[in-house]
Amino acid sequence: MLEEDEARQRILDQVELGPVVWMPVELARERTLAQEIRGIADFPEFDNSSMDGYAVRAADATMGATLAVHPDEQPAGIDRCLELEQGQAIRIFTGAPVPKGADAVIMQEDVTRSDQEITVDDPVVVGENIRRRGGDVCSGQKLMSPGTRLTPARLSLLHSQGIAEVPVYTQPMVHIITTGDELVGPGEPRMPGQIYDSNGVLLRSSVESAGGVAEQIHLADDPDTMVSAFEILCEVSDFLVIAGGVSVGDHDYVKPSLQAADVETDFWRVRVKPGKPFVFGRHPSGCLIFGLPGNPVSAFVTFQLFVAPAIAKYLGHPTRPLAQPLGIAGEVLENKGDRTHYLRAVDVQGQIHLSGTQQSHALFGLSKADCLVRIEADSSIAEGAPVSGIRLS
Ligand code: AMP
Ligand code: MG
Repeated sequence: MLEEDEARQRILDQVELGPVVWMPVELARERTLAQEIRGIADFPEFDNSSMDGYAVRAADATMGATLAVHPDEQPAGIDRCLELEQGQAIRIFTGAPVPKGADAVIMQEDVTRSDQEITVDDPVVVGENIRRRGGDVCSGQKLMSPGTRLTPARLSLLHSQGIAEVPVYTQPMVHIITTGDELVGPGEPRMPGQIYDSNGVLLRSSVESAGGVAEQIHLADDPDTMVSAFEILCEVSDFLVIAGGVSVGDHDYVKPSLQAADVETDFWRVRVKPGKPFVFGRHPSGCLIFGLPGNPVSAFVTFQLFVAPAIAKYLGHPTRPLAQPLGIAGEVLENKGDRTHYLRAVDVQGQIHLSGTQQSHALFGLSKADCLVRIEADSSIAEGAPVSGIRLS
């Protein structure tokens, strides 16, 4: 049985970066940049006014001074190439180019206008209310590194530079396969003994949150159906995520069916709770196969431990340790078993408390959790001691 860290490393060693595609900036939200971006223009590109007011020479605009208003105005969006002479003021608007000869803008609220003159009620200093050329970005300056997540603000910066398309990593195509004769889809009629499929939506939305494209297919516990489905899906997926049927029960056909579909098993079973029967393999097509235990909490935890990091690597996200400091234990946390345990917990102002029953079918506790606390095998964490684990968002 592999240790958790070794299992994850063996998976990551097999994940390659996704192909790079160029796409319109407006479609690239949350995608990962595949190349460095440098400024292609100064921003602002010209000195411009940050206020509606009057362009002046600061030396003329002393307290109580009267300045003659130039007959032309300088609006935003066009450079009228006006020139300011001594003792003059030019009416100017926010974003408009600062006329030659002016070195400050006085706000319209700080003057008294009468006909073709203004009187200064509050003087300005050189540079006041002027946004300087290149004050934010200089042409050639490095703006973003490969691996940067494209947030709304970063998309906006790209457009401000006139950049319309960006190179990003392709999203992985992930097929989710739920298995089990006992399962019916939500909203469908149920016979006694049947249960609703809850892994489908759990894993599809987890794939999407991690940045992949998800499709779900449900398979009966039948080896022939599984073999043909695996053969087809391995050809059209980057990753295959199978839930259920990976254990040692009489109806757990996933492992032999994977083998019959030409998938080479890399490892089966990891020293982690929940999630021990996890299986990982590779198809000759390059598709990577993740077999998750069927219990929903086990499926969720193993997804976080092994599938989410693989999607992150494919997408070019910077690598970071999975377990992060979470806060301090709000109660004694114990693991008497011989496997690393991930417990469902909530962060109450920095104090980490368990969120309900910890059994691997218990979705209510998972639904309340905002973190998974990691406890090493055969150890305990005292109340008030620091804890680490995975933050769920
Ligand atoms: P298995 O790993 O197939 O033996 O499944 C373990 C447990 O998880 C069983 O109680 C299954 O009924 C349950 N289970 C498997 N798949 C799902 C699913 N898609 N939704 C809800 N429960 C499931
Ligand atoms: Mg099953």
